[in-house]
Amino acid sequence: MEIKRGIPVAPGVAIGPALMLDTESFRIPQRAIAVAGVAAELQRLGLAMEAAVEEARGNQKAISDKLGTQYGAIFGAHALLMTDPALAREIEGLIRDQHFAAEYAVSRVIRRYAKALESIEWGPLAARAADLFDIEKVILGNLLGQRKEQMRDLKEPVIVLAHDLTPSETAALDPHMVHAFATEAGGRASHTAIMAGVLEIPAVVGLGKFVTDVSGGDFVIVDGNRGVLILNPDEETLERYEHTRSSFRTFESGLLELRDLPAETRDGTTIHLLGNIEFPQEASHCLDRGAGGVGLYRTEFLYLGKKTHPTEEDHLEAYVTVLKTLGAQKPVVIRTLDLGADKFPSHAGGHSDERNPSLGVRSVRLCLRNLTLFKTQLRAILRASALGDVRIMFPMVSTLLELRQCKMILAEVKEDLEEEGIAFNRQLPVGTMIEVPSAAILADLMAREVNFFSIGTNDLIQYTLAADRTNQEVASLYSAGDPAVLRLIDNVVKAARQYNVSVNVCGEMAAEPMYTMLLLGLGLRHLSVTPHNIPEIKKIVRSITLEEAVEVAREAMLLETARGVNSYLRERTRRILPEVFG
Ligand code: PEP
Ligand code: MG
Repeated sequence: MEIKRGIPVAPGVAIGPALMLDTESFRIPQRAIAVAGVAAELQRLGLAMEAAVEEARGNQKAISDKLGTQYGAIFGAHALLMTDPALAREIEGLIRDQHFAAEYAVSRVIRRYAKALESIEWGPLAARAADLFDIEKVILGNLLGQRKEQMRDLKEPVIVLAHDLTPSETAALDPHMVHAFATEAGGRASHTAIMAGVLEIPAVVGLGKFVTDVSGGDFVIVDGNRGVLILNPDEETLERYEHTRSSFRTFESGLLELRDLPAETRDGTTIHLLGNIEFPQEASHCLDRGAGGVGLYRTEFLYLGKKTHPTEEDHLEAYVTVLKTLGAQKPVVIRTLDLGADKFPSHAGGHSDERNPSLGVRSVRLCLRNLTLFKTQLRAILRASALGDVRIMFPMVSTLLELRQCKMILAEVKEDLEEEGIAFNRQLPVGTMIEVPSAAILADLMAREVNFFSIGTNDLIQYTLAADRTNQEVASLYSAGDPAVLRLIDNVVKAARQYNVSVNVCGEMAAEPMYTMLLLGLGLRHLSVTPHNIPEIKKIVRSITLEEAVEVAREAMLLETARGVNSYLRERTRRILPEVFG
Protein backbone atom coordinates (compact mmCIF):
# COMPACT_ATOMS: atom_id res chain seq x y z
CA MET A 1 0.00 0.00 0.00
CA GLU A 2 1.24 3.49 -0.82
CA ILE A 3 -0.29 6.78 0.34
CA LYS A 4 0.14 9.98 -1.69
CA ARG A 5 -0.95 13.41 -0.49
CA GLY A 6 -2.12 16.17 -2.79
CA ILE A 7 -4.69 18.94 -3.05
CA PRO A 8 -8.36 18.00 -2.53
CA VAL A 9 -10.44 19.71 -5.23
CA ALA A 10 -13.76 17.87 -5.21
CA PRO A 11 -15.18 16.08 -2.17
CA GLY A 12 -16.17 12.46 -1.73
CA VAL A 13 -14.51 9.08 -1.66
CA ALA A 14 -14.15 6.61 -4.54
CA ILE A 15 -12.70 3.13 -4.58
CA GLY A 16 -12.01 1.14 -7.72
CA PRO A 17 -9.59 -0.02 -10.44
CA ALA A 18 -7.21 2.56 -11.92
CA LEU A 19 -7.25 3.60 -15.54
CA MET A 20 -4.04 5.31 -16.56
CA LEU A 21 -4.64 8.14 -18.98
CA ASP A 22 -1.41 9.04 -20.63
CA THR A 23 -0.47 12.53 -21.53
CA GLU A 24 0.18 14.32 -24.76
CA SER A 25 3.83 14.51 -23.83
CA PHE A 26 3.97 10.71 -23.88
CA ARG A 27 5.21 10.01 -20.40
CA ILE A 28 4.80 6.27 -20.57
CA PRO A 29 4.34 4.42 -17.31
CA GLN A 30 5.77 0.93 -17.03
CA ARG A 31 2.35 -0.61 -17.21
CA ALA A 32 1.93 -4.35 -17.10
CA ILE A 33 -0.80 -6.22 -18.93
CA ALA A 34 -2.51 -9.46 -17.99
CA VAL A 35 -1.32 -12.63 -19.75
CA ALA A 36 -4.76 -12.98 -21.28
CA GLY A 37 -4.40 -9.51 -22.77
CA VAL A 38 -1.22 -10.23 -24.77
CA ALA A 39 -2.96 -11.07 -28.04
CA ALA A 40 -5.10 -7.92 -27.89
CA GLU A 41 -2.06 -5.82 -27.05
CA LEU A 42 -0.14 -7.25 -30.04
CA GLN A 43 -3.07 -6.43 -32.25
CA ARG A 44 -3.20 -2.88 -30.85
CA LEU A 45 0.51 -2.52 -31.61
CA GLY A 46 0.04 -3.85 -35.14
CA LEU A 47 -2.72 -1.37 -35.89
CA ALA A 48 -0.73 1.55 -34.48
CA MET A 49 2.37 0.59 -36.50
CA GLU A 50 0.35 0.13 -39.69
CA ALA A 51 -1.26 3.53 -39.27
CA ALA A 52 2.14 5.10 -38.60
CA VAL A 53 3.62 3.55 -41.74
CA GLU A 54 0.65 4.72 -43.76
CA GLU A 55 1.05 8.23 -42.38
CA ALA A 56 4.77 8.24 -43.24
CA ARG A 57 4.06 7.09 -46.82
CA GLY A 58 1.35 9.74 -47.15
CA ASN A 59 3.80 12.38 -45.93
CA GLN A 60 6.44 11.08 -48.32
CA LYS A 61 4.13 11.57 -51.28
CA ALA A 62 2.80 14.95 -50.18
CA ILE A 63 6.25 16.38 -49.42
CA SER A 64 7.77 14.91 -52.59
CA ASP A 65 5.03 16.55 -54.69
CA LYS A 66 5.52 19.84 -52.94
CA LEU A 67 9.25 20.11 -52.32
CA GLY A 68 10.90 17.34 -54.28
CA THR A 69 11.69 13.69 -53.73
CA GLN A 70 14.87 14.30 -51.70
CA TYR A 71 12.70 15.85 -48.94
CA GLY A 72 9.97 13.26 -49.22
CA ALA A 73 12.67 10.61 -48.76
CA ILE A 74 12.97 11.49 -45.06
CA PHE A 75 9.50 10.05 -44.54
CA GLY A 76 10.28 7.16 -46.84
CA ALA A 77 13.10 6.29 -44.45
CA HIS A 78 10.67 6.48 -41.50
CA ALA A 79 8.35 4.02 -43.25
CA LEU A 80 11.29 1.69 -43.94
CA LEU A 81 12.44 1.77 -40.32
CA MET A 82 8.95 1.03 -39.05
CA THR A 83 8.56 -1.95 -41.36
CA ASP A 84 11.91 -3.38 -40.30
CA PRO A 85 11.03 -6.89 -39.01
CA ALA A 86 13.79 -6.73 -36.36
CA LEU A 87 12.20 -3.69 -34.75
CA ALA A 88 8.75 -5.27 -34.68
CA ARG A 89 10.19 -8.53 -33.33
CA GLU A 90 11.88 -6.77 -30.45
CA ILE A 91 8.83 -4.73 -29.45
CA GLU A 92 6.53 -7.74 -29.72
CA GLY A 93 8.99 -9.74 -27.61
CA LEU A 94 8.65 -7.29 -24.72
CA ILE A 95 4.87 -7.52 -24.90
CA ARG A 96 4.78 -11.32 -25.21
CA ASP A 97 7.53 -12.23 -22.74
CA GLN A 98 7.53 -9.43 -20.22
CA HIS A 99 3.87 -8.40 -20.50
CA PHE A 100 4.65 -4.75 -21.05
CA ALA A 101 1.93 -2.52 -22.46
CA ALA A 102 2.50 -1.63 -26.11
CA GLU A 103 3.36 2.02 -25.36
CA TYR A 104 6.10 1.08 -22.93
CA ALA A 105 7.51 -1.62 -25.22
CA VAL A 106 7.65 0.78 -28.20
CA SER A 107 9.23 3.50 -26.15
CA ARG A 108 11.83 1.19 -24.62
CA VAL A 109 13.00 -0.35 -27.88
CA ILE A 110 13.06 2.86 -29.88
CA ARG A 111 14.83 4.75 -27.13
CA ARG A 112 17.49 2.06 -26.91
CA TYR A 113 18.12 2.37 -30.66
CA ALA A 114 18.15 6.17 -30.41
CA LYS A 115 20.60 6.11 -27.54
CA ALA A 116 22.95 3.93 -29.51
CA LEU A 117 22.78 6.33 -32.46
CA GLU A 118 23.23 9.36 -30.24
CA SER A 119 26.45 7.92 -28.88
CA ILE A 120 27.93 8.24 -32.38
CA GLU A 121 29.15 11.78 -32.17
CA TRP A 122 29.03 12.80 -35.80
CA GLY A 123 28.05 11.65 -39.22
CA PRO A 124 24.70 10.86 -40.85
CA LEU A 125 23.79 8.13 -38.39
CA ALA A 126 23.93 10.46 -35.38
CA ALA A 127 21.22 12.59 -36.94
CA ARG A 128 18.97 9.54 -37.31
CA ALA A 129 18.27 9.54 -33.55
CA ALA A 130 15.93 12.50 -34.09
CA ASP A 131 14.11 10.45 -36.75
CA LEU A 132 13.62 7.67 -34.23
CA PHE A 133 12.09 10.06 -31.71
CA ASP A 134 9.79 11.27 -34.47
CA ILE A 135 8.74 7.72 -35.22
CA GLU A 136 8.19 7.00 -31.55
CA LYS A 137 5.93 10.04 -31.29
CA VAL A 138 3.78 8.95 -34.23
CA ILE A 139 3.36 5.36 -33.02
CA LEU A 140 2.64 6.46 -29.46
CA GLY A 141 0.21 9.06 -30.75
CA ASN A 142 -1.68 6.27 -32.49
CA LEU A 143 -1.58 3.99 -29.45
CA LEU A 144 -2.69 6.70 -27.05
CA GLY A 145 -5.34 7.81 -29.51
CA GLN A 146 -6.76 4.31 -29.31
CA ARG A 147 -6.67 4.53 -25.54
CA LYS A 148 -8.68 7.74 -25.67
CA GLU A 149 -11.20 5.94 -27.88
CA GLN A 150 -11.39 3.28 -25.18
CA MET A 151 -12.39 5.98 -22.68
CA ARG A 152 -15.60 6.41 -24.63
CA ASP A 153 -16.75 2.86 -24.22
CA LEU A 154 -15.80 1.93 -20.71
CA LYS A 155 -17.72 -1.09 -19.50
CA GLU A 156 -16.99 -0.80 -15.80
CA PRO A 157 -16.38 2.09 -13.39
CA VAL A 158 -12.78 3.25 -13.10
CA ILE A 159 -10.68 5.84 -11.37
CA VAL A 160 -8.70 7.89 -13.84
CA LEU A 161 -5.08 8.56 -12.95
CA ALA A 162 -2.94 10.82 -15.09
CA HIS A 163 0.02 13.12 -15.03
CA ASP A 164 -2.34 15.96 -15.86
CA LEU A 165 -5.67 16.50 -17.59
CA THR A 166 -6.61 19.48 -19.71
CA PRO A 167 -10.00 21.12 -19.00
CA SER A 168 -11.30 19.55 -22.23
CA GLU A 169 -10.10 16.07 -21.29
CA THR A 170 -11.69 16.44 -17.87
CA ALA A 171 -14.95 17.64 -19.35
CA ALA A 172 -14.99 14.57 -21.61
CA LEU A 173 -14.92 12.15 -18.65
CA ASP A 174 -18.19 10.31 -18.16
CA PRO A 175 -19.05 10.60 -14.44
CA HIS A 176 -21.14 7.41 -14.63
CA MET A 177 -18.03 5.43 -15.45
CA VAL A 178 -15.23 7.59 -14.09
CA HIS A 179 -15.86 7.67 -10.35
CA ALA A 180 -12.92 9.92 -9.45
CA PHE A 181 -9.67 11.24 -10.81
CA ALA A 182 -6.26 12.05 -9.45
CA THR A 183 -3.38 13.82 -11.15
CA GLU A 184 0.29 14.44 -10.48
CA ALA A 185 0.06 18.06 -11.62
CA GLY A 186 -2.48 20.82 -11.05
CA GLY A 187 -3.37 23.36 -8.40
CA ARG A 188 -6.41 24.14 -6.27
CA ALA A 189 -8.04 26.50 -8.73
CA SER A 190 -6.89 24.99 -12.02
CA HIS A 191 -9.69 24.63 -14.53
CA THR A 192 -9.24 20.89 -14.38
CA ALA A 193 -10.07 21.10 -10.67
CA ILE A 194 -13.10 23.25 -11.40
CA MET A 195 -14.32 20.69 -13.92
CA ALA A 196 -14.19 18.01 -11.21
CA GLY A 197 -16.77 20.02 -9.32
CA VAL A 198 -18.92 20.20 -12.44
CA LEU A 199 -18.77 16.43 -12.91
CA GLU A 200 -19.47 15.98 -9.20
CA ILE A 201 -16.82 13.31 -8.76
CA PRO A 202 -14.10 13.24 -6.07
CA ALA A 203 -10.76 14.54 -7.26
CA VAL A 204 -7.28 15.17 -5.97
CA VAL A 205 -4.62 17.06 -7.94
CA GLY A 206 -1.00 18.09 -7.35
CA LEU A 207 0.00 14.68 -5.98
CA GLY A 208 3.53 14.75 -7.37
CA LYS A 209 5.00 11.76 -9.14
CA PHE A 210 3.00 8.54 -8.92
CA VAL A 211 2.09 7.30 -12.40
CA THR A 212 5.13 5.08 -12.59
CA ASP A 213 4.14 3.41 -9.31
CA VAL A 214 0.78 2.15 -10.50
CA SER A 215 -0.52 -0.01 -13.30
CA GLY A 216 -3.89 0.11 -15.00
CA GLY A 217 -6.27 -2.20 -13.11
CA ASP A 218 -4.59 -1.71 -9.71
CA PHE A 219 -7.03 -0.96 -6.91
CA VAL A 220 -6.89 2.62 -5.67
CA ILE A 221 -8.77 4.95 -3.29
CA VAL A 222 -9.30 8.66 -4.00
CA ASP A 223 -10.22 10.66 -0.92
CA GLY A 224 -11.38 14.03 -2.23
CA ASN A 225 -12.11 15.32 1.28
CA ARG A 226 -8.56 15.02 2.52
CA GLY A 227 -6.59 15.07 -0.74
CA VAL A 228 -5.28 11.53 -0.51
CA LEU A 229 -4.61 8.85 -3.12
CA ILE A 230 -4.00 5.34 -1.84
CA LEU A 231 -2.44 2.81 -4.18
CA ASN A 232 -3.13 -0.86 -3.58
CA PRO A 233 -4.84 -0.36 -0.18
CA ASP A 234 -4.65 -3.14 2.41
CA GLU A 235 -7.79 -4.86 3.72
CA GLU A 236 -8.08 -2.73 6.82
CA THR A 237 -7.77 0.57 4.91
CA LEU A 238 -10.25 -0.64 2.33
CA GLU A 239 -12.78 -1.46 5.03
CA ARG A 240 -12.29 1.87 6.75
CA TYR A 241 -12.80 3.72 3.46
CA GLU A 242 -15.91 1.70 2.54
CA HIS A 243 -17.32 3.03 5.79
CA THR A 244 -16.18 6.63 5.14
CA ARG A 245 -17.69 6.46 1.66
CA SER A 246 -21.10 5.44 2.90
CA SER A 247 -21.19 7.94 5.77
CA PHE A 248 -20.17 10.74 3.39
CA ARG A 249 -23.02 9.76 1.08
CA THR A 250 -25.46 9.91 3.99
CA PHE A 251 -24.06 13.30 4.97
CA GLU A 252 -24.49 14.60 1.39
CA SER A 253 -28.04 13.36 0.98
CA GLY A 254 -28.87 14.91 4.36
CA LEU A 255 -27.60 18.25 3.05
CA LEU A 256 -29.97 18.08 0.11
CA GLU A 257 -32.84 18.40 2.54
CA LEU A 258 -31.75 22.02 2.97
CA ARG A 259 -32.61 22.71 -0.66
CA ASP A 260 -35.82 24.64 -0.04
CA LEU A 261 -34.83 26.27 3.23
CA PRO A 262 -33.65 29.88 3.10
CA ALA A 263 -29.93 30.65 3.18
CA GLU A 264 -30.25 32.75 6.29
CA THR A 265 -28.03 33.16 9.34
CA ARG A 266 -29.50 32.32 12.74
CA ASP A 267 -30.04 36.02 13.36
CA GLY A 268 -31.92 36.47 10.10
CA THR A 269 -29.44 37.85 7.52
CA THR A 270 -30.11 36.56 4.02
CA ILE A 271 -27.13 35.32 2.04
CA HIS A 272 -27.55 34.94 -1.73
CA LEU A 273 -26.15 31.58 -2.79
CA LEU A 274 -25.71 31.38 -6.53
CA GLY A 275 -24.28 28.76 -8.89
CA ASN A 276 -21.18 28.82 -11.11
CA ILE A 277 -21.76 27.09 -14.43
CA GLU A 278 -19.74 26.22 -17.51
CA PHE A 279 -22.40 24.49 -19.62
CA PRO A 280 -26.07 25.44 -20.13
CA GLN A 281 -27.18 22.01 -18.86
CA GLU A 282 -25.76 22.88 -15.45
CA ALA A 283 -28.52 25.43 -14.90
CA SER A 284 -30.62 22.48 -13.74
CA HIS A 285 -27.90 21.53 -11.20
CA CYS A 286 -28.41 25.04 -9.79
CA LEU A 287 -32.14 24.46 -9.40
CA ASP A 288 -31.59 21.00 -7.87
CA ARG A 289 -29.34 22.51 -5.20
CA GLY A 290 -31.61 25.49 -4.48
CA ALA A 291 -29.40 28.21 -6.03
CA GLY A 292 -30.82 31.72 -6.22
CA GLY A 293 -29.54 32.10 -9.78
CA VAL A 294 -26.29 31.90 -11.73
CA GLY A 295 -23.54 34.09 -10.31
CA LEU A 296 -20.96 33.13 -12.92
CA TYR A 297 -21.52 31.65 -16.35
CA ARG A 298 -18.07 30.83 -17.78
CA THR A 299 -18.90 31.17 -21.47
CA GLU A 300 -15.47 30.16 -22.78
CA PHE A 301 -16.63 26.56 -22.42
CA LEU A 302 -18.68 27.19 -25.58
CA TYR A 303 -15.34 26.51 -27.26
CA LEU A 304 -15.06 23.00 -25.91
CA GLY A 305 -14.56 20.58 -28.78
CA LYS A 306 -15.00 23.37 -31.37
CA LYS A 307 -12.51 24.29 -34.05
CA THR A 308 -14.17 27.58 -34.95
CA HIS A 309 -15.51 30.54 -33.00
CA PRO A 310 -19.11 30.15 -31.82
CA THR A 311 -21.55 32.24 -33.83
CA GLU A 312 -23.96 34.78 -32.38
CA GLU A 313 -26.69 32.15 -32.65
CA ASP A 314 -24.53 29.55 -30.82
CA HIS A 315 -24.07 32.01 -27.96
CA LEU A 316 -27.73 32.96 -27.90
CA GLU A 317 -28.92 29.37 -27.94
CA ALA A 318 -26.77 28.57 -24.89
CA TYR A 319 -27.95 31.63 -22.96
CA VAL A 320 -31.60 30.99 -23.78
CA THR A 321 -31.28 27.41 -22.53
CA VAL A 322 -30.02 28.71 -19.19
CA LEU A 323 -32.76 31.35 -18.96
CA LYS A 324 -35.49 28.87 -19.84
CA THR A 325 -34.25 26.44 -17.20
CA LEU A 326 -34.00 29.05 -14.45
CA GLY A 327 -37.09 31.09 -15.32
CA ALA A 328 -37.23 34.83 -15.90
CA GLN A 329 -36.90 35.83 -12.23
CA LYS A 330 -33.53 34.38 -11.32
CA PRO A 331 -30.44 36.42 -12.22
CA VAL A 332 -27.91 35.02 -14.67
CA VAL A 333 -24.50 36.69 -14.73
CA ILE A 334 -22.95 36.01 -18.13
CA ARG A 335 -19.23 36.56 -18.13
CA THR A 336 -17.69 37.51 -21.47
CA LEU A 337 -15.07 35.17 -22.92
CA ASP A 338 -12.11 34.49 -20.67
CA LEU A 339 -9.98 32.73 -23.27
CA GLY A 340 -6.24 32.30 -22.99
CA ALA A 341 -3.80 31.07 -20.32
CA ASP A 342 -4.95 27.54 -19.45
CA LYS A 343 -8.44 28.01 -20.91
CA PHE A 344 -8.60 26.83 -24.52
CA PRO A 345 -5.36 28.58 -25.47
CA SER A 346 -5.48 27.20 -29.01
CA HIS A 347 -8.38 29.56 -29.63
CA ALA A 348 -6.53 32.50 -28.24
CA GLY A 349 -6.06 34.05 -31.64
CA GLY A 350 -2.44 33.32 -32.46
CA HIS A 351 -0.88 34.05 -29.07
CA SER A 352 0.07 30.49 -28.25
CA ASP A 353 3.79 31.31 -28.21
CA GLU A 354 3.53 33.62 -25.22
CA ARG A 355 6.20 33.04 -22.59
CA ASN A 356 3.79 33.78 -19.79
CA PRO A 357 0.21 33.35 -20.97
CA SER A 358 -1.37 34.16 -17.61
CA LEU A 359 0.16 37.60 -17.90
CA GLY A 360 -0.46 37.86 -21.62
CA VAL A 361 -3.25 38.38 -24.08
CA ARG A 362 -6.04 36.75 -22.10
CA SER A 363 -9.70 37.55 -21.52
CA VAL A 364 -10.81 41.12 -22.22
CA ARG A 365 -7.33 41.88 -23.51
CA LEU A 366 -7.97 39.33 -26.21
CA CYS A 367 -11.54 40.50 -26.84
CA LEU A 368 -10.50 44.12 -27.13
CA ARG A 369 -8.02 43.11 -29.84
CA ASN A 370 -10.60 41.05 -31.65
CA LEU A 371 -13.70 43.18 -31.78
CA THR A 372 -15.57 40.88 -34.15
CA LEU A 373 -15.27 38.07 -31.62
CA PHE A 374 -16.21 40.41 -28.75
CA LYS A 375 -19.16 42.07 -30.48
CA THR A 376 -20.58 38.73 -31.59
CA GLN A 377 -20.86 37.70 -27.96
CA LEU A 378 -22.09 41.09 -26.75
CA ARG A 379 -24.90 41.02 -29.32
CA ALA A 380 -25.99 37.60 -28.08
CA ILE A 381 -25.88 38.64 -24.42
CA LEU A 382 -27.91 41.76 -25.16
CA ARG A 383 -30.45 39.78 -27.18
CA ALA A 384 -30.76 37.31 -24.30
CA SER A 385 -31.32 40.22 -21.89
CA ALA A 386 -34.74 40.76 -23.46
CA LEU A 387 -35.79 37.33 -22.18
CA GLY A 388 -34.78 37.30 -18.52
CA ASP A 389 -32.70 38.77 -15.71
CA VAL A 390 -29.39 38.76 -17.58
CA ARG A 391 -26.37 40.64 -16.26
CA ILE A 392 -23.05 41.07 -18.04
CA MET A 393 -19.62 40.81 -16.47
CA PHE A 394 -16.13 41.48 -17.82
CA PRO A 395 -13.24 39.23 -16.67
CA MET A 396 -9.58 40.03 -15.96
CA VAL A 397 -10.03 43.78 -15.96
CA SER A 398 -6.75 45.28 -14.79
CA THR A 399 -7.14 49.01 -15.47
CA LEU A 400 -9.92 51.54 -15.43
CA LEU A 401 -9.30 52.29 -19.08
CA GLU A 402 -9.82 48.67 -20.01
CA LEU A 403 -13.16 48.63 -18.19
CA ARG A 404 -14.21 51.83 -19.93
CA GLN A 405 -13.23 50.39 -23.30
CA CYS A 406 -15.37 47.30 -22.65
CA LYS A 407 -18.31 49.52 -21.74
CA MET A 408 -17.75 51.62 -24.84
CA ILE A 409 -17.88 48.58 -27.10
CA LEU A 410 -21.02 47.45 -25.29
CA ALA A 411 -22.57 50.88 -25.95
CA GLU A 412 -21.69 50.58 -29.67
CA VAL A 413 -23.33 47.16 -29.88
CA LYS A 414 -26.42 48.52 -28.13
CA GLU A 415 -26.62 51.27 -30.75
CA ASP A 416 -26.34 48.69 -33.55
CA LEU A 417 -29.17 46.61 -32.08
CA GLU A 418 -31.26 49.73 -31.58
CA GLU A 419 -30.84 50.63 -35.25
CA GLU A 420 -31.72 47.10 -36.29
CA GLY A 421 -34.83 47.21 -34.10
CA ILE A 422 -33.70 44.21 -32.02
CA ALA A 423 -35.01 44.04 -28.44
CA PHE A 424 -32.69 44.12 -25.42
CA ASN A 425 -32.68 45.39 -21.85
CA ARG A 426 -31.42 48.99 -21.96
CA GLN A 427 -30.75 48.82 -18.21
CA LEU A 428 -28.67 45.66 -18.47
CA PRO A 429 -26.61 45.60 -15.25
CA VAL A 430 -22.86 45.72 -15.93
CA GLY A 431 -20.28 44.23 -13.61
CA THR A 432 -16.60 43.56 -13.48
CA MET A 433 -14.60 40.72 -12.05
CA ILE A 434 -12.10 41.82 -9.43
CA GLU A 435 -9.39 39.26 -9.95
CA VAL A 436 -6.27 41.28 -10.61
CA PRO A 437 -4.66 43.04 -7.63
CA SER A 438 -4.66 46.41 -9.47
CA ALA A 439 -8.47 46.23 -9.76
CA ALA A 440 -8.80 45.32 -6.09
CA ILE A 441 -6.58 48.23 -5.07
CA LEU A 442 -8.52 50.62 -7.32
CA ALA A 443 -11.88 49.19 -6.29
CA ASP A 444 -13.16 52.65 -5.32
CA LEU A 445 -12.54 53.90 -8.88
CA MET A 446 -13.88 50.73 -10.47
CA ALA A 447 -17.03 50.95 -8.33
CA ARG A 448 -18.07 54.20 -10.00
CA GLU A 449 -18.17 52.46 -13.37
CA VAL A 450 -20.31 49.40 -12.66
CA ASN A 451 -23.40 47.99 -11.00
CA PHE A 452 -21.66 45.05 -9.38
CA PHE A 453 -18.37 43.41 -8.53
CA SER A 454 -17.54 39.74 -8.50
CA ILE A 455 -14.32 38.80 -6.74
CA GLY A 456 -12.50 36.07 -8.65
CA THR A 457 -10.31 34.70 -5.91
CA ASN A 458 -8.81 32.00 -8.14
CA ASP A 459 -6.91 34.56 -10.16
CA LEU A 460 -6.68 37.15 -7.41
CA ILE A 461 -4.66 34.73 -5.28
CA GLN A 462 -2.51 33.72 -8.25
CA TYR A 463 -1.65 37.29 -9.19
CA THR A 464 -1.27 38.59 -5.63
CA LEU A 465 1.11 35.86 -4.54
CA ALA A 466 2.76 35.34 -7.94
CA ALA A 467 1.87 31.64 -7.60
CA ASP A 468 0.50 29.83 -10.65
CA ARG A 469 -2.93 28.42 -9.80
CA THR A 470 -2.16 25.25 -11.77
CA ASN A 471 1.30 24.51 -10.39
CA GLN A 472 1.48 22.08 -7.49
CA GLU A 473 5.06 23.13 -6.77
CA VAL A 474 3.84 26.49 -5.49
CA ALA A 475 0.58 25.22 -4.02
CA SER A 476 1.69 26.05 -0.49
CA LEU A 477 2.00 29.72 -1.46
CA TYR A 478 -1.33 29.72 -3.22
CA SER A 479 -3.73 30.25 -0.34
CA ALA A 480 -7.03 32.09 -0.01
CA GLY A 481 -6.19 32.60 3.65
CA ASP A 482 -3.13 34.70 2.91
CA PRO A 483 -3.37 38.03 4.77
CA ALA A 484 -2.54 39.91 1.53
CA VAL A 485 -5.57 38.34 -0.17
CA LEU A 486 -7.81 39.06 2.82
CA ARG A 487 -6.80 42.71 2.85
CA LEU A 488 -7.59 43.05 -0.85
CA ILE A 489 -11.00 41.45 -0.37
CA ASP A 490 -11.66 43.73 2.57
CA ASN A 491 -10.73 46.74 0.45
CA VAL A 492 -13.08 45.67 -2.35
CA VAL A 493 -16.02 45.09 0.02
CA LYS A 494 -15.51 48.48 1.65
CA ALA A 495 -15.36 50.27 -1.71
CA ALA A 496 -18.45 48.43 -2.90
CA ARG A 497 -20.33 49.45 0.23
CA GLN A 498 -19.23 53.06 -0.13
CA TYR A 499 -20.52 53.27 -3.70
CA ASN A 500 -23.54 51.07 -3.18
CA VAL A 501 -22.36 48.43 -5.59
CA SER A 502 -23.22 44.80 -4.87
CA VAL A 503 -20.33 42.43 -4.44
CA ASN A 504 -20.09 38.69 -4.91
CA VAL A 505 -17.29 36.14 -4.53
CA CYS A 506 -17.23 33.61 -7.36
CA GLY A 507 -13.78 32.05 -6.96
CA GLU A 508 -13.31 28.65 -5.35
CA MET A 509 -12.73 30.33 -1.99
CA ALA A 510 -16.50 30.90 -1.78
CA ALA A 511 -17.08 27.15 -2.14
CA GLU A 512 -14.71 26.19 0.66
CA PRO A 513 -16.70 25.88 3.89
CA MET A 514 -13.80 27.03 6.03
CA TYR A 515 -13.96 30.52 4.48
CA THR A 516 -17.73 31.05 4.76
CA MET A 517 -17.73 32.67 8.20
CA LEU A 518 -14.81 34.89 7.26
CA LEU A 519 -16.46 36.10 4.05
CA LEU A 520 -19.76 36.84 5.77
CA GLY A 521 -17.90 38.60 8.57
CA LEU A 522 -16.08 40.76 6.01
CA GLY A 523 -19.47 41.89 4.72
CA LEU A 524 -20.17 39.61 1.78
CA ARG A 525 -23.80 38.69 1.18
CA HIS A 526 -23.45 37.03 -2.24
CA LEU A 527 -21.47 33.84 -2.85
CA SER A 528 -21.35 31.97 -6.12
CA VAL A 529 -20.13 28.38 -6.08
CA THR A 530 -20.23 25.12 -8.00
CA PRO A 531 -23.87 23.97 -7.51
CA HIS A 532 -22.68 20.82 -5.77
CA ASN A 533 -21.23 22.94 -2.93
CA ILE A 534 -24.34 25.04 -2.27
CA PRO A 535 -25.94 22.77 0.40
CA GLU A 536 -22.74 22.59 2.43
CA ILE A 537 -22.28 26.37 2.40
CA LYS A 538 -25.96 26.81 3.22
CA LYS A 539 -25.55 24.52 6.20
CA ILE A 540 -22.82 26.78 7.59
CA VAL A 541 -24.80 29.94 6.88
CA ARG A 542 -27.81 28.52 8.73
CA SER A 543 -25.67 27.43 11.69
CA ILE A 544 -24.08 30.75 12.60
CA THR A 545 -25.01 34.27 13.59
CA LEU A 546 -23.67 37.30 11.79
CA GLU A 547 -22.18 38.41 15.06
CA GLU A 548 -20.10 35.23 15.22
CA ALA A 549 -18.98 35.72 11.61
CA VAL A 550 -17.89 39.30 12.31
CA GLU A 551 -15.88 38.11 15.30
CA VAL A 552 -14.23 35.38 13.19
CA ALA A 553 -13.32 37.90 10.48
CA ARG A 554 -11.93 40.33 13.04
CA GLU A 555 -9.73 37.63 14.58
CA ALA A 556 -8.60 36.30 11.18
CA MET A 557 -7.61 39.77 9.98
CA LEU A 558 -5.23 40.08 12.93
CA LEU A 559 -3.29 36.95 11.98
CA GLU A 560 -0.04 37.34 10.10
CA THR A 561 0.30 34.20 7.98
CA ALA A 562 -1.86 32.09 5.71
CA ARG A 563 -1.11 29.08 7.88
CA GLY A 564 -2.32 30.91 10.99
CA VAL A 565 -5.49 32.11 9.25
CA ASN A 566 -6.29 28.70 7.79
CA SER A 567 -5.83 26.74 10.98
CA TYR A 568 -7.92 29.26 12.91
CA LEU A 569 -10.72 29.11 10.32
CA ARG A 570 -10.55 25.33 10.08
CA GLU A 571 -10.94 25.02 13.80
CA ARG A 572 -13.91 27.42 13.91
CA THR A 573 -15.60 25.57 11.05
CA ARG A 574 -14.87 22.13 12.45
CA ARG A 575 -17.21 22.92 15.31
CA ILE A 576 -20.05 23.40 12.79
CA LEU A 577 -19.24 20.78 10.14
CA PRO A 578 -17.28 17.96 11.81
CA GLU A 579 -18.26 15.65 8.90
CA VAL A 580 -15.93 17.52 6.58
CA PHE A 581 -13.10 18.43 8.91
CA GLY A 582 -13.32 15.61 11.42
C1 PEP B 1 -11.59 33.40 -10.62
O1 PEP B 1 -10.52 33.73 -11.15
O2 PEP B 1 -11.75 33.34 -9.37
C2 PEP B 1 -12.75 33.05 -11.44
C3 PEP B 1 -13.93 32.82 -10.90
O3 PEP B 1 -12.55 32.93 -12.77
P1 PEP B 1 -11.89 31.63 -13.45
O4 PEP B 1 -11.72 30.58 -12.41
O5 PEP B 1 -12.81 31.23 -14.54
O6 PEP B 1 -10.59 32.18 -13.95
MG1 MG C 1 -10.48 34.20 -13.24
